[in-house]
Amino acid sequence: MAQPYIVGLTGGIGSGKTTVSNMLRSQGVEVIDADEISRSLLTPGSFALEELTRHFGEQILNADNSLNRAALRELIFNDSAARLWTDNLLHPLIREAILVLVRNSNSGWLVLSAPLLLESAAYGFVDRVLVVDSPEQLQIERSLQRDNANVEQIEKIMVAQLSRKARLAAADDIIRNDGDIAHLQHQVAKLKLFYEEQANVRHQTG
Ligand code: ATP
Repeated sequence: MAQPYIVGLTGGIGSGKTTVSNMLRSQGVEVIDADEISRSLLTPGSFALEELTRHFGEQILNADNSLNRAALRELIFNDSAARLWTDNLLHPLIREAILVLVRNSNSGWLVLSAPLLLESAAYGFVDRVLVVDSPEQLQIERSLQRDNANVEQIEKIMVAQLSRKARLAAADDIIRNDGDIAHLQHQVAKLKLFYEEQANVRHQTG
């Protein structure tokens, strides 16, 4: 089987990446999710979690020895050296796991959802960049509803991420997540058809 046509899906915090991925998955599209991979690499006893704990101490663990995500997030978004160290540990592992899944895929096309798709040179292999875009105020509101985070923390993360303008400039396709779920669903359905066509063309022309 030829390598699948790869659509890289990205967007800022709370923009709607997971919602879009879930819609696509429910329609049978294969989605590789960098956040899910990151979580699976950081289970208790894993190499990556042991390394993190060695470096930062037990402050990043919950009582049951699982990763305390809020504690790690707080730490790395207040200390750029800590963030760099963590990125240097996790990003190559995540990329390798993604490439294994891509190599083993039987799909004609797939979606790779990665928050840092555009921040990192590691994802140069994607064929098409799809950005989910939300107004910043909505990003904050939706993130607040979902997490136990506070506004300051979310704003810090937004500042550390690529700017909305830069992200949009890098996009081949844009989903505007500024309305209700039906509005999102409509755009996702249209793009799905488009990517199916693109993948067919790719596989026919080799
Ligand atoms: P993160 O980068 O923080 O993981 P994300 O980009 O994956 O975020 P989602 O988790 O998909 O974003 O969306 C954030 C929250 O907003 C979720 O609770 C989701 O259900 C909600 N949401 C997303 N899009 C819409 C919409 N169009 N209408 C209403 N709620 C929405």
